[in-house]
Amino acid sequence: MAGGNAIRGSRIGAGPMGEAERGDAAPRLRVSFFCASGHETRPAFAMDAPIPESWDCPRCGLPANTDQQNPPPPPKTVPYKTHLAYVKERRSDDEAEQILSEALTQLRERRAAGEIIY
Ligand SMILES: [Zn+2]
Repeated sequence: MAGGNAIRGSRIGAGPMGEAERGDAAPRLRVSFFCASGHETRPAFAMDAPIPESWDCPRCGLPANTDQQNPPPPPKTVPYKTHLAYVKERRSDDEAEQILSEALTQLRERRAAGEIIY
């Protein structure tokens, strides 16, 4: 049984040797998908293929669906830091560095003054 399945599977879309070569005449269904940016993309599906509920827009990468009036919302998670978050982080880094360098300077000054630093 398993061998039969493997042979049948290898024929699907097998190219020049396979029966799929006649697929030129196979009816294809073009489905319009719409993303939140207003792009329309129209991939073609075999008539017997399941139509996916969503499709990644090839132009902006947002998810798209077949409902032009109600495209899926853009993902809420923002993959990159906001400018403000970046500035805040930089500032705290700079402050930490400044505090550290001030402490080191004081240490050196006290050491230079002959104090014993434990
Ligand atoms: Zn798009």
